[in-house]
Amino acid sequence: MDCLFCKIIDNKLASKKIYEDDDNIAILDINPASPGHVLVIPKKHVENIFNVDNLDLRRTIEIVKLIAEKLKKELNTNNINIIVNNGRTAGQIVDHLHFHIVPRFENDKIDFRIPRYEMTQEQFDEIQKKLNINTNIEEKE
Ligand code: 5GP
Ligand code: ZN
Repeated sequence: MDCLFCKIIDNKLASKKIYEDDDNIAILDINPASPGHVLVIPKKHVENIFNVDNLDLRRTIEIVKLIAEKLKKELNTNNINIIVNNGRTAGQIVDHLHFHIVPRFENDKIDFRIPRYEMTQEQFDEIQKKLNINTNIEEKE
């Protein structure tokens, strides 16, 4: 399979690894949003959040936390973004699930914000009902 991150995992392509275990690797992003931008990548090839096994995901998110704590300590910041892009429209370029961990610093000028979508109370209610999984909205109202 022609997957960039699989090649990095198989050591067929070079990368700046900072962590590796049986299930995950963490590497420095080649084009960092800030110094210390890390990618945590599960070794098993899955395209994105919609394909990943829950147990694998649990292992990966634990490594995300481990790396975030490492960045916090070593880069002396309490400010970190953790981002996953799923699908082209969401900005996913490499079709192998990965977590971006981006350390943030005062005045770093990175801006992930997008123009806010203005919604009425009715639209909020409608989308809450649509997305509700396990709370009884009617009861709460
Ligand atoms: P995506 O947009 O798919 O969420 O993010 C892909 C990320 O992979 C980007 O931040 C990009 O800079 C990074 N990237 C692309 N090619 C390479 C590479 O060959 N090596 C490393 N270390 N990172 C890469
Ligand atoms: Zn892959």
